[in-house]
Amino acid sequence: MRERLSVESYVTGILAGDRIMLSRAITITESRLPEDKILAQTILQNVIPKTGHTIRIGITGIPGVGKSTFIEAFGQYLTSLGRRVAVLAIDPSSKKSGGSILGDKTRMEKLSNHSLAFIRPSATGLSLGGVTRNTRETMLLCEAAGYEIILVETVGVGQSETLVKGITDFFLLLMLAGAGDELQGIKKGIMEMVDAIAVNKADGTNENAAGQAVSEYQNAVHLLPATESGYNVRVIPCSALEGKGMDTIWQMVEEYVVVTKSNGFFTKNRQLQNIDWMHDTVRQTLEDQFYKNTAVKELMPDIEKAVRKGEKLPGQAANDLIALYMKSQISSLKS
Ligand code: GDP
Repeated sequence: MRERLSVESYVTGILAGDRIMLSRAITITESRLPEDKILAQTILQNVIPKTGHTIRIGITGIPGVGKSTFIEAFGQYLTSLGRRVAVLAIDPSSKKSGGSILGDKTRMEKLSNHSLAFIRPSATGLSLGGVTRNTRETMLLCEAAGYEIILVETVGVGQSETLVKGITDFFLLLMLAGAGDELQGIKKGIMEMVDAIAVNKADGTNENAAGQAVSEYQNAVHLLPATESGYNVRVIPCSALEGKGMDTIWQMVEEYVVVTKSNGFFTKNRQLQNIDWMHDTVRQTLEDQFYKNTAVKELMPDIEKAVRKGEKLPGQAANDLIALYMKSQISSLKS
């Protein structure tokens, strides 16, 4: 049983950079208990003024490209500059495996032991939408605790890149030389989403191939329509294993911030992200309430049976369920 603390102790602890209080507050945002949800929102409301003066960097790439090695190297580079770094993850597989990326802290052993770094694995047991909402809240809590650079890792599969793109300022794609685009699971869309591409493992005998891949991706990037951000996508080689290219990547991020802050894109993008966040929350909350509704739950098996047998069209069945839900909401308001 978790000891209950006051909102004030959480807020004071987080603002003072207390990592234990930060971790506990994040755990509350992950909870499904209604009282924890209220507590989480109250904590967030109180720390919001201290958030936002940060840079949020999304990092994606296929499994094995070197994401965790990269974050370990990049994180160490940033902490060597005296910057405070938080590492979070959006992991579509965490539901099944109980946390695959970042689950094993030894993957980023040096960084996780650094006093300027904070690493938090993806919450388990939540839907991808739930994980995203949770990551947004975790990000704000980390920012309030003084972490100024937020790295959000995701495996480059499925919808997760779009979700990470939707909550970060700068999106970095890690690639490998020699593996075909198909192999890297690179859909056309992702090239249009990224702000930079780093060809990793540019070391040893792989260095020339990496250089070649950089030129190829540069050509591919030039064919894309102009970016909305006004920042030209760059492609560079790096070696996470040897810590090479970390300075260049940080320089790119800094340039990106200068360009997009001066042309207004940085702020506009975050404003739009907040609007999306609001709509996501409305959708998610309504969906949760709908499926938790007793009347809906009671009717569901029969209505599913009718749809299975073709006795009811799916759309009609959905309308019946929604009508039932609304009716039960109205009668609960009256009582
Ligand atoms: P992830 O699945 O994307 O997180 O990839 P990992 O960081 O776990 O790396 C996968 C493998 O690639 C590991 O054996 C790493 O040691 C290796 N690796 C990662 N980065 C580099 C690099 O820059 N150069 C070389 N040669 N190997 C690397």
